Amino acid sequence: MEGFMNRLNHLEYYRLPWNLADNIISWLEPTAKCNLSCLGCYRKNEVNSHKTLHEIKEELNVLMHYRKTDSVSIAGGEPLLHPQITEIVKMVADFGCKPIVNTNGIALTKELLHDLKKAGVFGFTFHIDSKQNRPGWKDADEVELNELRYKFARMLADEGGISCSFNATIYEDTLKDVPDLLKWANKHIDIVNVMVFILYRAVNNDIVDYYLGPKKIDMSTLVYNEDVPDRTDIIADELVEVIRKTYPDFNPCAYLNGSEQADSFKWLLTGRVGTKDRIFGYMGSKAMEIVQGAHHLYTGKYLSYTRPKMNGKGRSMMLLGLIDKKLRRTFFRYIKNPFRIFKKLYLQTVMIIQPVDTLEDGRQSMCDGCPDITVWNGKLVYSCRMEEQLRYGHNLKTYPKDIAKQLELLEDK
Ligand code: SF4
Repeated sequence: MEGFMNRLNHLEYYRLPWNLADNIISWLEPTAKCNLSCLGCYRKNEVNSHKTLHEIKEELNVLMHYRKTDSVSIAGGEPLLHPQITEIVKMVADFGCKPIVNTNGIALTKELLHDLKKAGVFGFTFHIDSKQNRPGWKDADEVELNELRYKFARMLADEGGISCSFNATIYEDTLKDVPDLLKWANKHIDIVNVMVFILYRAVNNDIVDYYLGPKKIDMSTLVYNEDVPDRTDIIADELVEVIRKTYPDFNPCAYLNGSEQADSFKWLLTGRVGTKDRIFGYMGSKAMEIVQGAHHLYTGKYLSYTRPKMNGKGRSMMLLGLIDKKLRRTFFRYIKNPFRIFKKLYLQTVMIIQPVDTLEDGRQSMCDGCPDITVWNGKLVYSCRMEEQLRYGHNLKTYPKDIAKQLELLEDK
């Protein structure tokens, strides 16, 4: 981790209470068909893979049987390619969950957006980054892609009442662009509710071998095999350090740790409060604990997405400053100039996701309390490792390189 200096101390943040049985989100894949081929994708594009409404309902039944869930991410593949996407959105809403469509946006038209809203869509997460080979945007860098991001944010704002999030997979060469994406998101804080940065991961053939039982597996044909020279070990702490070069006060408030590393940040959550001109401060861990706890007490579920009009109620949130030091500081910075009181204050969420880490001793550290869990053959499985389920029926085990050789040596002694 070249040039990287500071680790964050997880004990200073609120450990989000999401777990296998009670979570903010669950993941649904109505199709594996896609109209793009993103470098960081972990699902193989399958042309004839649309599930029937009956199959989708069965998967939702399994999800609802195993866990409480506030939202359901309708992902894929590209979910908008499913000819019954409006029925799927309605089905999720009928199950009492917030339907969130995870899309690259290519197939989204104003008419479809309107129909999806009528069907009950709660939010969209647009996956946009510079390694998607998008038609018309092939050579665009992350900053140039803001024009496209704006187009989608505007479409949603014009339709009204729909939560707007953006995802980007972050690679070694795009790490430096994240502060600029955050500057852009600040400028559009009135219509952009969430920014998510997913740190690139791929099979790591350098430090481990993959096994199905005693059989060593050749991973070269798996879609998430590493075939690019990019780093696959960027951690959330490192991205925070990059962000702090532009936003020195940038301060996360809550996290999910790794299943094998208590002090790692698999989902690192930051709530920032500001106007379209500037960020005044951040939510502290106490405020996030109260929000999650109170929502669970009141509704029986942890809180995932909120309606855009709630995000515009930054001033009411300042009441939490009575018990949250960071919000109190934010409030005093905001009212330093009393004329600001006429400007609307917004809350915007920034999430950093650090998917599977393969450790040198062969352990795999997953997100402990995985929000993106999905269904395969009637059981819950990590959506980021679905390809292993489909091919081998299991998640593969990893062992340090040449373990067989080591075992032979032990036997010789
Ligand atoms: S374990 Fe995988 S599927 Fe689950 S939240 Fe982490 S990256 Fe997503």
